[in-house]
Amino acid sequence: MVYGFRGLGRFSAVSSSQEFDAHRLRLDVISIFPEYLDPLRHALLGKAIEDGILEVGVHDLRKWATGGHKAVDDTPYGGGPGMVMKPEVWGPALDDIAAGHVVGDELESASPHLKSARHDEIEGVEKRAYEVEAAGDKELPLLLVPTPAGKPFTQTDAQGWSNERHIVFACGRYEGIDQRVIDDAAKRYRVREVSIGDYVLIGGEVAVLVIAEAVVRLIPGVLGNRRSHEEDSFSDGLLEGPSYTKPRSWRGLDVPEVLFSGNHAKVDRWRRDQALLRTQAVRPELIDETQLDAADRKVLGLD
Ligand code: SAM
Repeated sequence: MVYGFRGLGRFSAVSSSQEFDAHRLRLDVISIFPEYLDPLRHALLGKAIEDGILEVGVHDLRKWATGGHKAVDDTPYGGGPGMVMKPEVWGPALDDIAAGHVVGDELESASPHLKSARHDEIEGVEKRAYEVEAAGDKELPLLLVPTPAGKPFTQTDAQGWSNERHIVFACGRYEGIDQRVIDDAAKRYRVREVSIGDYVLIGGEVAVLVIAEAVVRLIPGVLGNRRSHEEDSFSDGLLEGPSYTKPRSWRGLDVPEVLFSGNHAKVDRWRRDQALLRTQAVRPELIDETQLDAADRKVLGLD
């Protein structure tokens, strides 16, 4: 193993997705606004830290800046507006994190009372990791560089990355990071430039929160009930249909009758129909990629 971090040494190098008991994920985030990452220690992520499933290191990029002003950015070659983040600052930061030279800046759980069982815990529910194809040399940490110019982040990525041992995030600001930093990092990392959507944020920190939350909730043991995410939107390619709870009638609106039938097959069919109809209305392109049987096609009016 290449990891030198405090904590990770306790665990053996496990690549099999079956060995979930030993699964630990370390996240390292480099940012000029480390306080932005505080949500990573709250709620279910905080509990994952307490349970030893997750370790989070947050690092201030300015620690690697030199000179009186500790500048992390400079004007772009070729002219144009804005500033670009400097390679001489990012390069050493990524070198140190990859080599495991940086210890400290650890986030502690914000919710130490969360030792109790969760509301979604179901005794005897099996904990299994997602099966994904091994991508490249897993000995190298995965470096995720949020950028609107990256490949779109999907639930399939989240499933795959929930099997990782060490993910490093490089948060850009201004016009982004000098491209040579990303090219050079490929010597020490598996690198992926990733976008969370077709819009432009001010910095990469919010994208890190989005990706980290989507990934960590899929690590076995983070959600008490694995079905919570197996039935989520995108898991079977469709959006999830509507959900209801008590009371049965509220402000003149009734819960659909079928949900009281006690007939599981009927309820499952109704849920599938609702998922199909919502997906067709909101994200029709997802229907094209979904395997449909005769009953599905009938509901969608395709036959
Ligand atoms: N000049 C860049 C472009 O047009 O592609 C935009 C830079 S943006 C103002 C600053 C930083 O915000 C980026 O380096 C990235 O870290 C982050 N960011 C902005 N939009 C994002 C998105 N849709 N997905 C992921 N990260 C994003």
